[in-house]
Amino acid sequence: MGLDAAEVSQLFAEVVGAGNVLVGDAVGDDYSHDEALGAAPQVPLAVVRPGSTEEVATLLRLADERRIPVTARGAGTGMSGACIPEPDGIVVSFERMNRIVEIDEQNFVAVVEPGVQLDQLDAALAPLGLVYPVFPGEYSASLGGNVSTNAGGMRAVKYGVTRQHVLGVEAVLPSGEVLTCGGKIVKVSTGYDLTQLIVGSEGTLALVTQATLRLYPRAGHASTLLAPFATVDEVTAAVPRIVGSGVGPLILEYIDMLTMAAATAHVGLDLGIPSSIQESALAYLVVALESTHADRLEQDTEATATLLSSLGALDVYVLPDGAAAQLIDAREKAFWVAKANGADDIIDVVVPRASVPAFMARVAEIANEHSSWIAGCGHAGDGNVHMAVFQPDPSVRSRVLHGLFTAGIDLGGAISGEHGLGRSKKRYFLDLEDPAKIALMRRIKVAFDPHSILNPGTLFD
Ligand SMILES: Cc1cc2nc3c(=O)[nH]c(=O)nc-3n(C[C@H](O)[C@H](O)[C@H](O)COP(=O)(O)OP(=O)(O)OC[C@H]3O[C@@H](n4cnc5c(N)ncnc54)[C@H](O)[C@@H]3O)c2cc1C
Repeated sequence: MGLDAAEVSQLFAEVVGAGNVLVGDAVGDDYSHDEALGAAPQVPLAVVRPGSTEEVATLLRLADERRIPVTARGAGTGMSGACIPEPDGIVVSFERMNRIVEIDEQNFVAVVEPGVQLDQLDAALAPLGLVYPVFPGEYSASLGGNVSTNAGGMRAVKYGVTRQHVLGVEAVLPSGEVLTCGGKIVKVSTGYDLTQLIVGSEGTLALVTQATLRLYPRAGHASTLLAPFATVDEVTAAVPRIVGSGVGPLILEYIDMLTMAAATAHVGLDLGIPSSIQESALAYLVVALESTHADRLEQDTEATATLLSSLGALDVYVLPDGAAAQLIDAREKAFWVAKANGADDIIDVVVPRASVPAFMARVAEIANEHSSWIAGCGHAGDGNVHMAVFQPDPSVRSRVLHGLFTAGIDLGGAISGEHGLGRSKKRYFLDLEDPAKIALMRRIKVAFDPHSILNPGTLFD
């Protein structure tokens, strides 16, 4: 027999203080879901808000002894239902553990607690001329959530994803053991890399209580080019050429015509593109460049504009800073626009960069075969295609998603490049992934979490 809410409240109040355990009506709706479309919300028995690693260790040990399901939560901006709790479980919310422990300007690292938000870290780094370069589209996301989903975002084409920037973690096992993995070191060769195993594990192996992140000097100069193309194929074919040109783009995004129209209208942005071009453009490529030297940036901008024209762009616009920032903002808000327009699901298949045209051709076929509508934009520079799927019938939608994921995997890709599997993509993963790999993952899960209390329902059933 499991504990009821009052018993759970009493148990954890002794660890974190009564004011930091929420039960009943005090558990706000936010704790029952993330931003995944179509994932059923679930209210937990209680929300527990620890203030230190020691409290996390004690509460996990107690939960493990009593087999209480534990779901970690950062800011709840995830796209795969990965922080949706169990009805008889608790949410461990890291909102109180939001300290930037240290910014080490000699070693170029920041040490943060998991509840630190991206915008909070950026505000602390900017005056020092430093940057943590991973910027997934939602800046209220927490670093704990970023680490646990291996978040990506637009700048991954230059800097890589979260995984490349986590030098170490402090993490707590259900046994209450506290692991310190990695640290302020940029290389290590001492057995299995537990830091990287925990990155992207969606709260299923351990709770992250601290992360050591790699920092970079902040580039002082940036430019943004917008190139409309007559076909999606031309856009996606241009991507490897720009990467190969050596300019090292900061952002390389494709936006299809529908998404561009809806996203710019949403933020009231008029880019001044002549209507004759707008009528012929089926897709747009956004290329952002950055440099520490103004003259080098100018040369790279000119070279990229010339290259884009030679690759068939209908025109090339170098956007003024204000319009560029608004366009990036509009692209980041594309999810909200798709949601407001009734999208039934959002997915982010990743394929090898050069296979994007083949994948997009298959996407169009699948949409036709199932009378569905699929609009998209994406991190073209990473082969990470974000698609809004409009198909209200759940069984047809499931076939559409299955087809899209299969197409991605057949091209050497994966179901998700950055949103993760969570609850909403789990069944496709269990169906399509190599059974030997799933079996090994299950054995790893048991080694970390023998009683399966950590985020049950995510990744595995
Ligand atoms: C408009 C919008 C745009 C987005 N764009 C992008 C994008 O471009 N790229 C991208 O990668 N993502 C994007 N996302 C998704 C989202 O922002 C990321 O997945 C982010 O990493 C989630 O962080 P969070 O703090 O909200 O985590 P949550 O949603 O709270 O949790 C995510 C996962 O992390 C686990 N978790 C959280 N904290 C911990 C911890 N301390 N220890 C262990 N596990 C933990 C949770 O259990 C869950 O499994 C976008 C989301 C929105 C709403």
